[in-house]
Amino acid sequence: MQKLIDELEKNKDLSDEGLLALIGMPLTDIPNIGAAFWPGSLRASDKPPHSDVDRHADADPDRYLAKRADTVRRAHYGTNVYVRGLIEFTNHCKNNCYYCGIRRGNGSLTRYRLTKEEILSCTAAGFKLGFRTFVLQGGEDPYFTDTYICDIVSSIKEQHPDCALTLSIGEKDRASYQAFFDAGADRYLLRHETADDTHYARLHPPEMSLKNRMRCLYDLKEIGYQVGSGIMVGSPGQTPETILSDLRFLQKLDPDMIGIGPYLTHNNTPFANEKNGSLALTLRLLSLLRLLFPHALLPATTALGTIHPLGREMGLKCGANVLMPNLSPVDVRRLYALYENKICTGDESAQCRDCLETRVSSAGYQIVTARGDVKRKI
Ligand code: SF4
Repeated sequence: MQKLIDELEKNKDLSDEGLLALIGMPLTDIPNIGAAFWPGSLRASDKPPHSDVDRHADADPDRYLAKRADTVRRAHYGTNVYVRGLIEFTNHCKNNCYYCGIRRGNGSLTRYRLTKEEILSCTAAGFKLGFRTFVLQGGEDPYFTDTYICDIVSSIKEQHPDCALTLSIGEKDRASYQAFFDAGADRYLLRHETADDTHYARLHPPEMSLKNRMRCLYDLKEIGYQVGSGIMVGSPGQTPETILSDLRFLQKLDPDMIGIGPYLTHNNTPFANEKNGSLALTLRLLSLLRLLFPHALLPATTALGTIHPLGREMGLKCGANVLMPNLSPVDVRRLYALYENKICTGDESAQCRDCLETRVSSAGYQIVTARGDVKRKI
């Protein structure tokens, strides 16, 4: 496996067989990715096995993979971790994705929308805390018309011209994407979820199509956005082969940011009885992504922090370099429940920021106050 990992690092690519061999390596509950930062307070059951045996590190392929990914991330981004202030401004959605807790079919969810003024007070608070990127995320909510979104975007950019603004509001027409871009939006996040048609149909109702999702992503690229895409790891129906097709699709799209996190179930969805995704496979894929896309912005997602108390720290160790703490008002956070037991729904933004600072430095990195644009070249 080491040979394959070295070849992947050198060529930033590998044959289908090689990638499938790495994706399909046996999984443990918690991989051995190194001991350096494990706090004494961690429950024994949460500690990775053999985590103190670093001299054998290279014999463990996941440990070796994480080490190579960390070396590559340090070459491109040093120890910097970029933070994006996430504002979840509406949990209304016209879609019914089978895996999602805020799907329109979930009748037991209390729905909310933030006003423009509430959004602006989130960005003002975030700016004071050192955030220089804001992410406006929401379901596909027709209440927020293009005109309204453009107004919000231009108001944020007027107040914070030195900040980057990311939108994550789903599938739109090209003209809408263009209007948001012209109003000042810099980046757009839209996970493709899977590049395999059959798998896409397993995750989404028939009115949604992979073709349209891909059309959106290519429109966004052509317009000039910095684009982020990605997948859930362990979603129902996912196989090593579908993951391989995801990696090949990402190579074609060449996004600036790739967001992956473990699939986590939600009780009020058709997938209520499905299993959660795997921490170990998510970490492995993060490292593979770092070697395939050395320049990419890779978040250690909230879902990683939800599946394990140190999931985000482990993500950073495996090549991630972005965190997306929540800046939404505390009283609505638990309502943006894409999955169960989401973390960080109770703390004020300032507390979250302090907590993250400690977590990031305990893992050997540091949060920086910067827009954190992609670095295509070193
Ligand atoms: S995944 Fe996105 S588009 Fe699908 S139901 Fe959830 S919020 Fe709506």
